[in-house]
Amino acid sequence: MAKRDFYEVLGVERGASDADLKKAYRRLAMKYHPDRNPGDKAAEDKFKEANEAYEILSDASKRAAYDQYGHAGVDPQMGGGAGAGFGGASFSDIFGDVFSDFFGGGGGGRGGRGGPQRGADLRYTLDLDLEDAVRGTTVTIRVPTLVGCKTCSGSGAKPGTSPVTCTTCGGIGQVRMQQGFFSVQQTCPRCHGSGKMISDPCGTCHGQGRVEEQKTLSVKVPAGVDTGDRIRLTGEGEAGAHGGPAGDLYVVVNVREHDIFQRDGKHLYCEVPISFADAALGGELEVPTLDGRVKLKIPEGTQTGKLFRLRGKGVAPVRGGGAGDLMCRVVVETPVNLDKRQRELLEEFRSSLQGDTSHSPRASGWFEGMKRFFDDL
Ligand SMILES: [Zn+2]
Ligand SMILES: [Zn+2]
Repeated sequence: MAKRDFYEVLGVERGASDADLKKAYRRLAMKYHPDRNPGDKAAEDKFKEANEAYEILSDASKRAAYDQYGHAGVDPQMGGGAGAGFGGASFSDIFGDVFSDFFGGGGGGRGGRGGPQRGADLRYTLDLDLEDAVRGTTVTIRVPTLVGCKTCSGSGAKPGTSPVTCTTCGGIGQVRMQQGFFSVQQTCPRCHGSGKMISDPCGTCHGQGRVEEQKTLSVKVPAGVDTGDRIRLTGEGEAGAHGGPAGDLYVVVNVREHDIFQRDGKHLYCEVPISFADAALGGELEVPTLDGRVKLKIPEGTQTGKLFRLRGKGVAPVRGGGAGDLMCRVVVETPVNLDKRQRELLEEFRSSLQGDTSHSPRASGWFEGMKRFFDDL
């Protein structure tokens, strides 16, 4: 198999800098990596070809030999390697080096290996009354969190001293572990990725650089929020480690049950008891809304369970759109504690209905249904 020119393989000029070589190799390695192209022989070959080219060109003396003598100057066959570019033991080093920035988990977040780490996000459940959720409000909350230590300015070292370079990882924050074919980067177990050791820890934070504190915050709650809505307070989460940025605080809304209203999205529901006489004769009721009482006309012959819709008396949703409606369900109430006179009136009323079903639309329908049911048996 005739070998292609190594510079051609990587797609760079002959005079390319080390950084350009690395960049070109990394792009190809990402593209043709076997993990990304399972079972693809052509990709595997390209991968090997790029590896071989980079292995030679990234080594100054090998590159010089290649520049002078071509493939003959660096042929791994001659050196007794395993062939096809996988010969050199240095392969894993190249691999580890080039891939370290995205294989090695620096604890999340950019900023390099073992560098600053972003603080954790926090969640706070905010219980709100329905009125406050609908109208919006500003509340003061107290959140237990981690803040940067003021004594040591977050360094974790006693004032006047400074952290020293970690002896286990040499300040890199990562250690390299050989796992079969690959070399894998892991967070240094000694310094936990910071690359620094504290010999003389700060007395306030015991070397953590952060201390627990109750933070008092003012939260603006927009009108129309509902249970499950989240309000994000950027940077109000835990302080970052080793000078990293703080996380965010998520305030999660929970709207309390209301004595009168049930909420379903932008609509509100309530039950309004009405007297048996009002239901029969019709009348005007006072019903509650979140903006105060309003009058509601009830036509004569209103049955229990009837829903009356008050347009626009619901909730204006926080994400915009018109306000919902208030649905009032009337419930006819049976009168209790009747005096003698009231009993007489009702008894008289009852006898006036005797044998006449035209005043009872439901009952007459119900009796007919029952009759059909028993006849069918
Ligand atoms: Zn270390
Ligand atoms: Zn401290």
